[in-house]
Amino acid sequence: MSMENIRKQFPILKRKIHNKPLIYLDNAATTHKPLCVINAIVDFYSLHNANPDRGFHTLGIEASSLIERSRKAASRFINAKDSLEIVFTAGTTEGLNIIASSFLKDTPSVNEVNRENVVYGSVIQDLRNNFKDNEYITDKDFMFISDLEHHSNILPWMVLCKKKGATIKSIPITQQGCIDICSFEQMLKKYHPKIVAITYVSNVLGSVNDISKISKLAHQYGAKVVCDAAQAAPHIAIDVQNLDCDFLVFSAHKMYGPTGVGILYAKKEVLDKLQPHKYGGGMAENISLQNFDVRAAPFGLESGTLNIAGIVALYEAIQFINNTGIEQIAQHEHELKKYLEKELQAIPEIIIPTPDTQGPIVSFHTRNMHHLDIGTLLDAYGIAIRTGHHCAKPLLDILNVGDGISRVSLAVYNTKEEIGIFIEKLKKIIRK
Ligand code: PMP
Repeated sequence: MSMENIRKQFPILKRKIHNKPLIYLDNAATTHKPLCVINAIVDFYSLHNANPDRGFHTLGIEASSLIERSRKAASRFINAKDSLEIVFTAGTTEGLNIIASSFLKDTPSVNEVNRENVVYGSVIQDLRNNFKDNEYITDKDFMFISDLEHHSNILPWMVLCKKKGATIKSIPITQQGCIDICSFEQMLKKYHPKIVAITYVSNVLGSVNDISKISKLAHQYGAKVVCDAAQAAPHIAIDVQNLDCDFLVFSAHKMYGPTGVGILYAKKEVLDKLQPHKYGGGMAENISLQNFDVRAAPFGLESGTLNIAGIVALYEAIQFINNTGIEQIAQHEHELKKYLEKELQAIPEIIIPTPDTQGPIVSFHTRNMHHLDIGTLLDAYGIAIRTGHHCAKPLLDILNVGDGISRVSLAVYNTKEEIGIFIEKLKKIIRK
């Protein structure tokens, strides 16, 4: 597909910001949506709106089949063995919270309330196929994250570990911004962690981790591997069977899809053990006032009404990526990034902490200007970049870049001309 045809599909790219054409370089925060995604949402509400998996009228059946079509598409998108390994969530953050909270063993509250033969709160433990006792996190356990992580892949683990008195260790990174495999191996030998939760692509540095290798090593020591693929899904062909991670999560809105939709993938054998994080409609069967059974995964983890229109539109986002070709997207972004980085490196005031990473993200700081000033002044030219800590404060501390850094993150619709204008305006701003 030609660049002109790609750009035509994104109505927002015609917008003017402060009377200048929008140049949107904040794609790691969220990407824009092509017409097929926008239309899918309008079509759903105009033609098919109903609650799936509930009523057996025509609209209900249509809604169910649209949801299951998205589940199958998502499953193929990451090469899962079975579409039933796909759980719809609200996004990466929710997926990570579901996984982390599942490693917390609930104490069953037996006969908490016993009124007129109605026993609430009893034997919750028997309702689902839980982890084995030795799979939960205890005060003797360790779990690993890495120095690269987004707060969404730090805080749920911090809460879990604080509740149980377990210890989090962070795997250091190399000069190239990737997980240091030597240190990782040594740490595995020393601590035997139960969980290793790491990002596939860094949202700050664009560095890409070797997840297959990390999974292989972690599994040798009995750890489960959680992969945060929020920044990988729009740029890399994901193959969960090859990565061999136990869990993988990502968000639709970073891959041309709608907000409020995410995917939690887990290998069937671990998915069945995850604890529902919400209880209510749709997730249970055999319900009485005494008890209920949790439905088999993924439905037991999808309580309440989902973001139906969003999930339906995710199908179109996946189609958009497939039709454009993930390899072509990666190639285009890679060429743009090389050009961007070369131009940035030619500006003496600019420092790039880890140049030459694989992903389409470049963060930089300057010797003479605060990141907020850079972001604000660029906005006056219609250019959107992200400034701040990017929800990766521990990484920024390690990089020693103060309270923030400027980030350019690319998508398939960005052009060389846009990068040229960005560089020209950046030079103007920092040399004023
Ligand atoms: N992990 C990474 C690496 C991210 O970049 C982000 C979003 N910036 C998240 C997790 C959280 O994603 P969401 O806000 O869609 O839940």
